[in-house]
Amino acid sequence: MAALEQRLDELGERVDALAGEPEEPEDAKAAGKRKPKADPKAKKKTGPGEKPEKPEKPGPATSPATHAAHDLGPPPAQAHGPVPWSYRGERGPDAWGGLDPSFGKCASGEAQSPIDILPQRARPPDVVFVYQATAGAVVDNGHTLQVDLERGSYAVVDGERFELVQFHVHTPSEHTIAGDVFPLEVHLVHQSQAGALAVVGVLFAEGEPSTALAPVWKSAPRSTGQRRLKSKFDPSTILPREQGAYRYDGSLTTPPCSEGVRWIVMRRTRTEDPTRIAGLRDRFGSNARPIQELGARELR
Ligand SMILES: [Zn+2]
Repeated sequence: MAALEQRLDELGERVDALAGEPEEPEDAKAAGKRKPKADPKAKKKTGPGEKPEKPEKPGPATSPATHAAHDLGPPPAQAHGPVPWSYRGERGPDAWGGLDPSFGKCASGEAQSPIDILPQRARPPDVVFVYQATAGAVVDNGHTLQVDLERGSYAVVDGERFELVQFHVHTPSEHTIAGDVFPLEVHLVHQSQAGALAVVGVLFAEGEPSTALAPVWKSAPRSTGQRRLKSKFDPSTILPREQGAYRYDGSLTTPPCSEGVRWIVMRRTRTEDPTRIAGLRDRFGSNARPIQELGARELR
């Protein structure tokens, strides 16, 4: 009976998760663990992954260094110059591993992302978010929209501090829950002083427009390039209120697919307006890497 009860429990949680969670009012975001905390050190520090802002670029930016977490990963890919890749065709995910020697993990890695997540009993949050509003810019790098944020927000993962560097979107979701694909996934990319990465995934279902993401769409450049956010952005608005999460060790989901990334996929989902999601999808096409095998890894 215990097994059955647990299964029912899991299903209940899954339904809750699939139902999404209403947006929090703006004034609620300071509550709880996400309370912003001043940290003068974080503001001035120039971390190993911190880069000067990118100049406006003509044409599609296909350099791996311009997407998502790439520029935060190990540098070998950049030494080779831009290696074009895409989500379909002959430079699509099946071919990534052979496009460049530095992309080898995309084919040979055994701890790759994304994965399908089988819902399990909720666990107490073991990640503490200390986010605050900072200035930033929305970048269209040819693969996705990415928001580069100035330092000031961080997450404490396994007792270690990871600075929030940027977040970006995938349509549809890269992670799936028991096979279910969501229309949108946001990745918040964090980096430790030692250069390790921790990425937080937040899944979005179709529903009420996201007040959290509205400023991003409003400031998005019309084509490849970047535009400053009109005002400071508080990334805590993206997180679900309930901070239970799935954890596993994985990789970047784009070339060079570097491993050693600590993945934290939030159990609760949020919602975004279907029209906005369709707009993103029209602009970038499907920019989700196919599901990878969990293999010997543990999903916590
Ligand atoms: Zn991503």
